[in-house]
Amino acid sequence: MMTSMEPRVSHPRNTNPIRQSCQHCFLLVKWIPVVFIMSIIAWSYYAYVYELCILTVNSVLDQIIYLAGYHLIFVIFMWSYIKTIFTDVGGVPPEFKLPQSLYDRLNEADSEGTTRQLLDSFARNLPVSNTTMNGAARYCEKCYHVKPDRTHHCSVCRKCVPKMDHHCPWVNNCVAFKNYKFFVLFLGYGLIYCIFISLTSLQYFVAFWKFTSQGHLEGMGKFHILFLFFVAVMFAISLGSLFSYHCYLITKNRSTLESFRAPIFHSGPDKDGFSLGRYNNFQEVFGDNKALWFLPIFTSLGDGVTFPQRCLDEDSQQLLASNQRWSDTESPPPERHQVTELDVRIL
Ligand SMILES: [Zn+2]
Ligand SMILES: [Zn+2]
Repeated sequence: MMTSMEPRVSHPRNTNPIRQSCQHCFLLVKWIPVVFIMSIIAWSYYAYVYELCILTVNSVLDQIIYLAGYHLIFVIFMWSYIKTIFTDVGGVPPEFKLPQSLYDRLNEADSEGTTRQLLDSFARNLPVSNTTMNGAARYCEKCYHVKPDRTHHCSVCRKCVPKMDHHCPWVNNCVAFKNYKFFVLFLGYGLIYCIFISLTSLQYFVAFWKFTSQGHLEGMGKFHILFLFFVAVMFAISLGSLFSYHCYLITKNRSTLESFRAPIFHSGPDKDGFSLGRYNNFQEVFGDNKALWFLPIFTSLGDGVTFPQRCLDEDSQQLLASNQRWSDTESPPPERHQVTELDVRIL
């Protein structure tokens, strides 16, 4: 293991001003989808609250019910969205980074076998059990470190991200260990938001079409409400399918990337290698405090670097689940790192 005194391998700094300004432009461009979504949400707020509830709905009781329900959903929906966007998805702990001496030896290695040997001997002291297809340690050539289990390099964020699910342009952030719960809640509350708008505006939508046939449709306000209904239904369909897919992934404790390419263990590829049973899988993302399950507050279990793995019998699974947790402030117990499927069988 390296010590903190050892030199770190650093990325070469880019000082080319043209390239730097291009990078700044790219950073701005990446916010366009977020601005687009925010604009639609802002417009939907105006159309629903002002055009529908204040100008169109006649009954005061209906107005109160619609506005109260709408604002309740709106607040938690926006809260989830903002948390998904602005949560720092973190990086790989420093102990995974190659010390300078090893990096130099790696560069001087004259064969693939030597490279693999050097990386494997370094990874042996790390809490990893996932490997490459040929059984070697997973190494990121861009970040110069061994990848922890379920960690992947994001080419947009330009770093390795723990338990990366996918990079989402609509939130301009990676969806990963630290914000996956927020992302799923964002999808869920977004779906409820669209369904609520669709259902409460349906009768006015139908009424306006009737008026149209009689030639009574007047003013832009009615177009706002017609368009609001269409947009809400359209988004409800797309959010519904995405939300269902992620609910399925949660029950399997599988990331989107893992559903396309199974993680490889010492025993071979296994899409369900991290599956601990439906309820435990749900708790991995939503935590064990039921009061906080549906609030966009971080409650996911674990540290995003090591994960409990599927085992063959329930007793060893419970033993592992109790052994394999530690708080964010505590150092991980070294024996947890070494737990592999082979060890589970021994247990
Ligand atoms: Zn990387
Ligand atoms: Zn990313």
